[in-house]
Amino acid sequence: MPCKPEQKNIKEPTVTALPTTLEEARARDARDPLRTSRDQFHIPADTIYLDGNSLGCMPKATAARLRQVVEQEWAEGLIRSWNDADWINLPQRVGARIAPLIGAEPDEVLMTDSTSINLYKLAAAAVRMQPGRRRIITEPGNFPTDRYILQGLADSLQEQPELVTLPAEQIADAIDEDTALVMLTHVHYKSGRLHDMAAITQQARACGALMLWDLSHSAGALPVDLNGCGADMAVGCGYKYLNGGPGAPAFAWVAKRHHERLNQPIWGWFGHASPFAMSDDYVPAEGLRQVLTGTTAVLGASALETGLVLFADIDMAVLRRKSQQLTQQFIEAVERRCPKAGFELASPRDPEMRGSQVSFHHPEGYAIMQALIDRGVIGDFRAPDIIRFGMAPLYVGFEDIHNAVEILGDIMDYRHWDDPRYRQRNAVT
Ligand SMILES: *Cc1c(COP(=O)(O)O)cnc(C)c1O
Repeated sequence: MPCKPEQKNIKEPTVTALPTTLEEARARDARDPLRTSRDQFHIPADTIYLDGNSLGCMPKATAARLRQVVEQEWAEGLIRSWNDADWINLPQRVGARIAPLIGAEPDEVLMTDSTSINLYKLAAAAVRMQPGRRRIITEPGNFPTDRYILQGLADSLQEQPELVTLPAEQIADAIDEDTALVMLTHVHYKSGRLHDMAAITQQARACGALMLWDLSHSAGALPVDLNGCGADMAVGCGYKYLNGGPGAPAFAWVAKRHHERLNQPIWGWFGHASPFAMSDDYVPAEGLRQVLTGTTAVLGASALETGLVLFADIDMAVLRRKSQQLTQQFIEAVERRCPKAGFELASPRDPEMRGSQVSFHHPEGYAIMQALIDRGVIGDFRAPDIIRFGMAPLYVGFEDIHNAVEILGDIMDYRHWDDPRYRQRNAVT
């Protein structure tokens, strides 16, 4: 069949010689090319922060920048700051800073809204661009909002598309001439498993399906090449590896070849051709700006912009290499230090198949994570039994990994987790 091309598998060298002692870990940190990045972040005292995949650390510059935005641009400048402080162009300006991290052109990325909302807009636009095709393919166990958004979209359409949910390994083969859209999260939020973006995208395009990637756990964590892969659309999150702060705006990417035909469903004045003409009828802006709907959250956008500045001089290949080393060091150390504690690796063992996180199954995962947090090692728990550790390479070091596993070993050896306090479920896990 013409729509089933050969799959290519490009392998990079794997990870070798990782530190196994505190001294080796410190020596590795000392020659880490990214070591100066860590100083740009506020890391709370007595904390090993392994949750940057959920909420990135605060860049030190962000506090000062927000003070300036609040006290000068807002308090003094007031409405004038839309022009004087260029608030009006924040979506494009911040989008352009995200572009090089994801293999995009500067005018193909907009910072706006949340990941959920952007997903809705782009998925709806994609379906509209594919009349006559009935299937939307996604995978089970995808991040809940991604699934809910697609379910809600399907529910809202008069001619309801068929939402097809298939395990990762079956997706490429299932894409066919009836597929309107394939929507996948590049790095799985629980396991950290990485999809072969190039191969799946190629398969989708060969069948005329549109490919929409969620880069929430990829942007800022590993190099992504959307244009190189020929992808169509993408969304991603600002508060994880991009360090934009809690609830930071998200981003939307659409390949330039689609800008003219794009028609997203949430028409608002910021996406209008001339917002301040205040006309009665909607006329979409040219280019990607029509993806905007309403007023930018200026404080959140300013924080995200400050976080992104820290990526300006980062070589993403160097960052990826460090990330693979940190995750590999963590896996090997846990298995060496706690061989009988009942941890089962939930992430791919091959670093080429893994994002910047490591997850383990454990029946007592919730209590173990609470005990870890009590000892200053912050990761998180994902139901039913996964403990998850994110290694943000800009500020996590090899010594952190070594020390975190020592503390975990201690908690397991002495059953510190086996305490009623640690079984009390919080609202956010
Ligand atoms: C974090 C994350 C989101 C977040 O969506 P919000 O709209 O910001 O709440 C969406 N999708 C994936 C895959 C995520 O990891």
